[in-house]
Amino acid sequence: MSRASTSFSLVITVQNFLTPLAVPFDTPPHGFGSRAIAVIPVGTTVATFGGTALTHSSFAEYDAERRSRSIQVDSNLIFLGPPTREPGDSINHSCEPNCGMRNATSIVAMRDIAIGEELTFDYAMSDASSYDEFDCNCGTALCRGRVKADDWRLDTLRHRYTGFFSPYIQRKIDAERHRSLLNKKDVEEMIATYDTRPMLALRQALRKCFGMPHATWETLIELVVQQPNEISHLLSLNTSALDDLLKTLIETRGSGL
Ligand SMILES: [Zn+2]
Repeated sequence: MSRASTSFSLVITVQNFLTPLAVPFDTPPHGFGSRAIAVIPVGTTVATFGGTALTHSSFAEYDAERRSRSIQVDSNLIFLGPPTREPGDSINHSCEPNCGMRNATSIVAMRDIAIGEELTFDYAMSDASSYDEFDCNCGTALCRGRVKADDWRLDTLRHRYTGFFSPYIQRKIDAERHRSLLNKKDVEEMIATYDTRPMLALRQALRKCFGMPHATWETLIELVVQQPNEISHLLSLNTSALDDLLKTLIETRGSGL
């Protein structure tokens, strides 16, 4: 004998997760945050971010409040937060944070976090675009005053946050670390080819710099350029952007033959 099910379930979906060991709080009119309500042991995933995956040009069309609830996950990919704030959206920046990135969309406790402490991470760990630059009032002894798109380049932060950068930023750090300078012959070859085949000339030079003999133009551009508009100009082979890159490569050449 069969019997129709009479049970119903209500499923509430959220795009962001916040550990049950913390709760969000509001500080009107616009402030918010999350604080620990139990000891959060080092290594605990405290939050994960979801959202709508957008390139920078699409992202720019949304309002500032919603854009503030977003996270950059690749050179030209941002997860825009849901239409209304969720608990997992409520983690502030600090220049002396207790959390870091576990991967592009998860935040992990970098140390044990005590009851009552606010959860924070450093946006330099996740965001490398100027859309989210701001004056910082975190009040910590290590406050940088202004949080900028290229803070991930600071040696102090690279050292302090080893293992806690978003993977796409770590790729940039690794590429810079292993990058070599062009020698005199490389520069001469690049200039000789540039007039007739500019992209090929620059691609060859960048492949040499990064020790990546088969890398695509797109991959190389994302390693060498930071701002989305510069990336898109170079991808569309804009003449003045190509000229600027040529100039930079010539100026930063090494002393070798
Ligand atoms: Zn600060």
